[in-house]
Amino acid sequence: MPRPIEALTHPDALAHNLARARAAAPDSRVWAVVKANAYGHGIERAYAGLRGADGFALLDLAEAERVRALDWRGPILLLEGAFEPRDLELCSRLNLWHAVHCSEQIDWLSRHKTQQPHRVFLKMNSGMNRLGFRPAAFRSAWARLSALPQVDEISLMTHFSDADGERGVAHQVEVFDEATRDLPGERSLSNSAAVLRHHLKNDWVRAGILSYGSAPDFPAHDIHHWGLQPAMTLRSKLIAVQQLQPGDTVGYGSSYTATEAQRIGIVACGYADGYPRHAGTDTPVLVNGVRTGTVGRVSMDMLAVDLTPVPQARIGSEVTLWGRGPVVDGSPTLLAIDDVAHAAGTIGYELMCAVAPRVPVHTAD
Ligand SMILES: *Cc1c(COP(=O)(O)O)cnc(C)c1O
Repeated sequence: MPRPIEALTHPDALAHNLARARAAAPDSRVWAVVKANAYGHGIERAYAGLRGADGFALLDLAEAERVRALDWRGPILLLEGAFEPRDLELCSRLNLWHAVHCSEQIDWLSRHKTQQPHRVFLKMNSGMNRLGFRPAAFRSAWARLSALPQVDEISLMTHFSDADGERGVAHQVEVFDEATRDLPGERSLSNSAAVLRHHLKNDWVRAGILSYGSAPDFPAHDIHHWGLQPAMTLRSKLIAVQQLQPGDTVGYGSSYTATEAQRIGIVACGYADGYPRHAGTDTPVLVNGVRTGTVGRVSMDMLAVDLTPVPQARIGSEVTLWGRGPVVDGSPTLLAIDDVAHAAGTIGYELMCAVAPRVPVHTAD
């Protein structure tokens, strides 16, 4: 028998979350952001739930080919544009729209031979200082692009550094609006956090993490507040039970010491499965749908959980590391990935992207 761990993806949750994005940005078209293999869900699996989007945004050319191979005829946007001149050949062949964020990319376009002019998204660095033209250079980049026969339509985009936090987006929106005031073209500003928290004028929003059922501004708000559903479940089973006596320790480094008699369960899930090793004692977990916590250090293939609230648990009991738990007394159970990420000092994005290749993935029915 294979190890009992598996990841499940939930197409119904993806579709539900996409509908939340539409409701929050009713006047915008929605890019489903599916970079990093759809945030670890698998592009082909995620497509089942996200095909109602207006387009797919990603940055790896091989992933763009995978979306086209699914027979998606609509827009695909390369968020970082070409990495080298010959990438533009694939853009022409597969009709990929692409970001233009630096003058080298304009040079490459100007030398690119194509019958089919490209739709480009000109990117402004409005304060993130990662990709894009600074506001003072934006207009001349636009003028250069618009003079190229290789370019069809030019859209304008920028990315926020603090849409999820206290600083907010107003300072960047002001910079962007000022520098683009009389330029034509569609606008794309908002990521998930901006879609949910800041209602801005966008022709296209870029919905990533919210589609996968993680709150971009956790712990300020959680998925219940935003009406999102987990699109991934990581689950496993108990493979052993230990009865601890007071003074017994658990796992490497003996980081946990029992203060009284305590039953713990050993779960077939460790950091080699993508579970965060930084998760200390008391990281939330469900056993048979009952919420409890981890005990001691996470090892490569196993972790320990407190069975005190689940006295009936035994070898083979179901353990939900995050996502949908079993139905208990007629009610569905759930553990948000954000709760686990927060306890491990990270974010839901990192956990869903890090599920290891050795974990089999299935689509839930
Ligand atoms: C990843 C990414 C997004 C999506 O961000 P979320 O926070 O996951 O919604 C949007 N825009 C750009 C440019 C990105 O790289």
